[in-house]
Amino acid sequence: MSPFAIIALVLILARAIAELWLSRLNQWHVRAHADEVPTTFCGMVDRPTYHRSINYTLAKSRFGDAVTVFDTALLIAILFTGVLPWAFGESAAAFGTSVFAVAGFLFGVGIALSIVSLPFGWYAQFRLEGRFGFNTTTTTTWVLDRLKGFLLAALLGFPLLTLVLKLIEWTGPSWWIWTAVVVIVFQLLLLLIAPAVIMPLFNKFTPLPEGSLRERLFALASRTDFPTRSIEVMDGSKRSQHSNAFFTGFGHFRKIVLFDTLVAQLTEPELESVLAHEIGHYKLHHVIKTMAASIVGEVVGFAAIAWLARQQWFYRAFGFEYHVGFAAANVAPAMLLPGLLAGTIIFWISPVIHIWSRRFEYDADAFARATTGEAQSLIEALHKLTKKNLSNLTPHPLYSSFYYSHPTLLERERALRSG
Ligand SMILES: [Zn+2]
Repeated sequence: MSPFAIIALVLILARAIAELWLSRLNQWHVRAHADEVPTTFCGMVDRPTYHRSINYTLAKSRFGDAVTVFDTALLIAILFTGVLPWAFGESAAAFGTSVFAVAGFLFGVGIALSIVSLPFGWYAQFRLEGRFGFNTTTTTTWVLDRLKGFLLAALLGFPLLTLVLKLIEWTGPSWWIWTAVVVIVFQLLLLLIAPAVIMPLFNKFTPLPEGSLRERLFALASRTDFPTRSIEVMDGSKRSQHSNAFFTGFGHFRKIVLFDTLVAQLTEPELESVLAHEIGHYKLHHVIKTMAASIVGEVVGFAAIAWLARQQWFYRAFGFEYHVGFAAANVAPAMLLPGLLAGTIIFWISPVIHIWSRRFEYDADAFARATTGEAQSLIEALHKLTKKNLSNLTPHPLYSSFYYSHPTLLERERALRSG
């Protein structure tokens, strides 16, 4: 094995060990608090709900462990058994090395990997979520979702992949700049059209009916200078009892979306505080900052890929042959391998990103408190959502600081009550 292959293998194994260890730590912490409802939550959650949340947390955690072991074994098998160079050779022999053929090969690998993970997705939805009463997805909806996802990938992803490979051939050494620009513009366009074109493929959106809730939320939107054309209710209950709120699109296309499950679970003041929190993300420029950070991340990523694509040792480490030049077939392994390793790299960066995102959550909470003039409704809303979603009330601190994009309930409540 080459030194680089060994480094990659160590990173992959270290990730798996860290994931399993953190999960074990968290399971142990949850079990240690399982007998009695911790005093902090006594007034908030009853015993049966608390125990259900513990069982749900442990069941999800054990399932996550199985997925970790499987994914790690699969990734190691794909990277180090020579199956990729072999498949690439077979594909080249059968379909040639045109841009279309190479894009087809890369696309095929992606599809194959997503097919392998289908049973896990099925189990998570129908068994795990089903056991705790969250699943409302029918088999038909689930199958149709997968088919629509595949069609979207074929209609949008495949042409983009082809264009990227073409760009590499056309522009040579500076390809990564052009590619980054094209991919980023494509993503922004997608973000723009998603609310109008893509999301309706999966869900039904209906304007929030006339009434006091609608008046209240529009009043909040205008008070916070957040012009919105519509507030819509999405039939989230078509798939799950979990609830959420978000806004989507920009400028002219912007709309606020509430899950029907959320509308059913919360009172009007609570919904107002949740929406104020979401508007906070927008007004405090969290959306733009997150987008800017991901654009920077992508440019760095493409630059790294372009650099790797010129390193012989990189190809050799995974059993590929290195050919000088910018033909699609030469660069394809340099596109594929970082794609496969991306999850491992992002895993090690994610705790830092989460520190950032938790700070945004605190700021959005403070914004909601300032605009609604009170903290109690948001706290009530968080309590209800925590109970309804059977969220883990006692995560291990190391676990939550590594994985959580939001502060824990206790942390948010403390911040909302103070200052
Ligand atoms: Zn938030």
